[in-house]
Amino acid sequence: MHAPGAILLISCYELGHRPLGLTRPLRALEAAGFAPDIIDIAVEPLDVEKVKRARFIGISVPMHTALRLGVHLVYRIRQINPDVFICMYGLYATLNADYLLSQGVDFCLPSSGSPLPPLSGGQDTDTSTQLVELVQSLVAGEQVEPQKTGFHTAKLPPLEVYAQFEDNTEKRIVGYTETTHGCKHLCTHCPIPPVYNGKFSVVERETVLAEIQEQVSQGATHITFGDPDFLNGPMHGLRILRAMHKAYPNLTFDFTTKVEHILKHRKYFLEFAQLGCRFIISAVESLSEAILTILEKHHTRADVETAIDIVHGAGIALRPTWVPFTPWTTLDDYLEMLAFVEIHRLVYHVDPVQYAVRLLIPPGSYLLNRPETKALSLSLDEAAFSYTWTHPDARMDELHKTVSALVENDARAGVDTLETFYQIWALAADIHGSRRTPLGCRSKVAHPPAPRITEAWFC
Ligand code: SF4
Repeated sequence: MHAPGAILLISCYELGHRPLGLTRPLRALEAAGFAPDIIDIAVEPLDVEKVKRARFIGISVPMHTALRLGVHLVYRIRQINPDVFICMYGLYATLNADYLLSQGVDFCLPSSGSPLPPLSGGQDTDTSTQLVELVQSLVAGEQVEPQKTGFHTAKLPPLEVYAQFEDNTEKRIVGYTETTHGCKHLCTHCPIPPVYNGKFSVVERETVLAEIQEQVSQGATHITFGDPDFLNGPMHGLRILRAMHKAYPNLTFDFTTKVEHILKHRKYFLEFAQLGCRFIISAVESLSEAILTILEKHHTRADVETAIDIVHGAGIALRPTWVPFTPWTTLDDYLEMLAFVEIHRLVYHVDPVQYAVRLLIPPGSYLLNRPETKALSLSLDEAAFSYTWTHPDARMDELHKTVSALVENDARAGVDTLETFYQIWALAADIHGSRRTPLGCRSKVAHPPAPRITEAWFC
């Protein structure tokens, strides 16, 4: 198992950034004396020779899209190397373990912090011991500092092949890290609570700073902090940002946090801006009081408006995310969201794909405990990794299909976000059959550009 290439780690997709699901396990495995190969199929082809020589393949599936790709990958790997031991790890492996084990995966690894499952598979004692060591290394990646290992960054694709930071003509190479695991909140639609159950833990400051240092040395000039919520432990994050800014005063960054935290920690936002924060992603999801209650978001429309004032007032851009298609969203809600985006001059702060996001209800979702969801009598589509639902108003399902096709075609054709936005609005108004049309601020001047990462956020 310690031979070069006996272990192969594969990442399927991590939102366009260099995958932490490869870098941290790779570092931990090397520190434990293994010599793994890696492949990131988001940016490079599957190397058949690496698959053939592997005895253990770990596939990282931290998100829904990655899992869909990962399952196809398992079938392909089994054709190339039928006897290899396959482990899937990451958030979505945990949620879908039963199905994955029935599809040729040997075991699924819970996210770090959770107990390990018993190993199966009839290995001899030596191999079993090595497997336990290996699996422990996979979950312990964040405990190993880059400079304390023989971390072979040369194995990783260069940062240039991943999504970049863009703001008008300014471009930056992006590095990626996370300062925490899990989340202390329990939003019902989120895949994190079923795995972490309202708990979060911090990654050592030195480890995060070393990861930043390593990526800066490889050309990164912007860092994305991909924590589920960067402000779960605000002082931990702030200390890291202060140290990072001291070491690299020109480095910029972005992070994700909930509306509630923006209001609660408003006193820090001017400092975030001074430290180089360029934008913040926040899961607004809906403006409807009824839906926000079902999703247990603990914010209101008025809170969202206050959050915009706080963040924009500090000179940072707020990029809201949305879940505009749920079984409870009305056509009026949808049009209201578009009007809100226009009124607050946020057209360039929202990736058009956001207007096509449809609620995913994965196995174990906290949404299943809500009376509103129980009333829907949903059935699980294991192969789609989610419960299926149709909207009681057929026009919403039709709108979803039309908007999805539109944003996909427009993204492929490079259509300006402003044009796509008003086309979506016209479609929704058409289906609504009302005279409710855009307010008319179609000029680019009315909608300031916003910094972004050149990979639209998706789950
Ligand atoms: S949506 Fe955000 S705040 Fe809510 S549970 Fe998920 S990560 Fe935490």
